[in-house]
Amino acid sequence: MTVLDFMIKTEKSNAAAKSGGQTSTPPAPAPADKPLRLILLGAPGVGKGTQAEFFSQKLGLYHFSTGDFFRAAKKLTPEQRTAGMNEAMTYMTKGLLVPDTTVLAIVRENAGKLNCPQGFLLDGFPRTVAQAGALEELLAREKLPLTAVVNYELPMQEIVDRLSGRRTCAGCKAVYHLVTRPPLKKDVCDHCGGALYQREDDKPESIRVRMNAYQQSTMPLIQFYQKRGLLVPIQADKTPAEIFERTLAGLKAAEAAKERKTKK
Ligand code: AMP
Repeated sequence: MTVLDFMIKTEKSNAAAKSGGQTSTPPAPAPADKPLRLILLGAPGVGKGTQAEFFSQKLGLYHFSTGDFFRAAKKLTPEQRTAGMNEAMTYMTKGLLVPDTTVLAIVRENAGKLNCPQGFLLDGFPRTVAQAGALEELLAREKLPLTAVVNYELPMQEIVDRLSGRRTCAGCKAVYHLVTRPPLKKDVCDHCGGALYQREDDKPESIRVRMNAYQQSTMPLIQFYQKRGLLVPIQADKTPAEIFERTLAGLKAAEAAKERKTKK
């Protein structure tokens, strides 16, 4: 059984348990015979982080988010920060992309973790064709072929609405939305009681800059991965749980199509 089959089966049995009034059972450790190695693409605010949470919680995939890495660097004392981290923070606060050299240095430092037996999930990386090229070389060297590149699609206005209403927990990083996913108690995290805040780069001025950066630098990645037969487009216009189900189904269909092609 592949990791993907295992996950679809777990989701189905949890859905059946819920409809029968039972609580869902926590998933057993997933098999690691065929790791899932995924890149999540999509404009900022499309819900990549939430989907990444689903994947890593349910399957233990190694989740690497360059954005989370830079945000964590912000919390370090000036003595703890490297020059690269300071540089990254200046770009990030303005909503601009951090230079490729800085991003790639961080990815190379963490490359050993990509060898996780269950697989990995890259969220927010790569963001430019140069980053995608460097990643391709790194993965070829490490013999870690990609399973698929999931591209979450949503109209731009909806993305802007999502970003401006997004709130993040300062403690556990859980993500909420003022309208579509509000916390039970205003400004307080349901999971850990931490304070919810609006990310600096979710403020209106930064959102505009981030959308331009996405259109100019990240959109070309869609073609890059389409040419390699890895792109799996997913409409991101439902609830996070429904989008997750769609993602699993999309990955399964892509896997079946690939198998049919190799058999020919
Ligand atoms: P994210 O949480 O992925 O939206 O990232 C937040 C910010 O971190 C971005 O707006 C960029 O300033 C920076 N960042 C994160 N990942 C990258 C990347 N792969 N390349 C360049 N900048 C990045």
